Amino acid sequence: MAFRCRMCGTCCMYLGDYIAVERQAGPFEFECESVSTGTPFLARVDDDKREIFKDTSWLNEHPTACRFLRPCGEQVLCTIHGTSPAQCKFYRCVVMRIFDIRGILIGKVTGTLTLHSDNSELREIWEAALREIPEGSGDIEERLQKVLESHGYRVE
Ligand code: SF4
Ligand code: SF4
Repeated sequence: MAFRCRMCGTCCMYLGDYIAVERQAGPFEFECESVSTGTPFLARVDDDKREIFKDTSWLNEHPTACRFLRPCGEQVLCTIHGTSPAQCKFYRCVVMRIFDIRGILIGKVTGTLTLHSDNSELREIWEAALREIPEGSGDIEERLQKVLESHGYRVE
């Protein structure tokens, strides 16, 4: 159930205020601040993303996006992945996708273990499982997955 980022860029589309660029320190280096934590950091554009970084036209059409986001074919990439703040690197938008026995996606679980689903049966099972697993269990995601699978759901 390892999280795979699809590099869609959706999570960074409204983070223009989250990463504040204070000063350009070099052709591909920027003194920045991670606003939520007040942490300064030096952003360095990844070597292999410099060409796409130079084209800023996409940002004009997406003024709320993080200044370091750029389209690249079908994907939308962070161009400073190597030096981005830890919160960016470890962010996981979805930790589980839950399918019913027909293979239909009926629920998603975000990184805070919040279930998003219209399926009332699934929601009940999820809430009951959360109540049963002790808080702080290091293997909580694996345990939740096992509970769901025992009810016939497929989890990715
Ligand atoms: S973390 Fe999720 S929303 Fe963000 S780029 Fe990856 S798949 Fe897309
Ligand atoms: S630094 Fe990268 S991961 Fe973080 S908000 Fe900006 S584009 Fe997204």
